[in-house]
Amino acid sequence: MTAPAGEIYRVDWVPGTDLLHGTCHCGAEHTAEDPVAMWEWMLGHPEGHQGVE
Ligand SMILES: [Zn+2]
Repeated sequence: MTAPAGEIYRVDWVPGTDLLHGTCHCGAEHTAEDPVAMWEWMLGHPEGHQGVE
């Protein structure tokens, strides 16, 4: 199987913590404790993304 081009999100659990680590299809990364906040960040793309310096 091949991954379809387009929006691909990935969320991993950070071992030993209550944190979720998400990676957006654009390459931006985000860490949140609340799954809802994580999804809001992802769905809010591109707002708040690629802002890491
Ligand atoms: Zn993004």
